[in-house]
Amino acid sequence: MSDCLFCKIAAKEIPANIVHEDELCVAFDDINPQAPMHVLVIPKKHISRVSEIKQEDQELAGHLMMVGSSVAASRGFSESGFRIVANCNADAGQVVFHIHFHVLAGRQLGWPPG
Ligand code: 5GP
Ligand code: ZN
Repeated sequence: MSDCLFCKIAAKEIPANIVHEDELCVAFDDINPQAPMHVLVIPKKHISRVSEIKQEDQELAGHLMMVGSSVAASRGFSESGFRIVANCNADAGQVVFHIHFHVLAGRQLGWPPG
């Protein structure tokens, strides 16, 4: 999608600190980290929001989760813990409408989230 910030990051048209890339997805550091590790995992395919994940995207969605987990593990947070979360629409505070999993780690994360 031409007018999408995260499509542009996936296409390397906008710089980001990419920590993982494969044929399906890109993971990069969040520009405004909310924890010592705050990585965003996005599909290269444009999907606007979690509520628009279709049946044909199921494998992709699982892949994003697996990549988030492996990025956390590669930074040494597998044992201590991490959180993977996706915000969908206004009440969840979604501001970028290209799906992304936040991967947060490195501090005690509050629950329930605000
Ligand atoms: P949302 O609220 O949509 O779930 O989260 C969007 C996330 O994208 C925020 O955590 C925000 O800091 C991050 N973000 C927004 N613009 C950029 C950018 O240009 N580069 C990077 N690396 N992260 C961004
Ligand atoms: Zn996009």
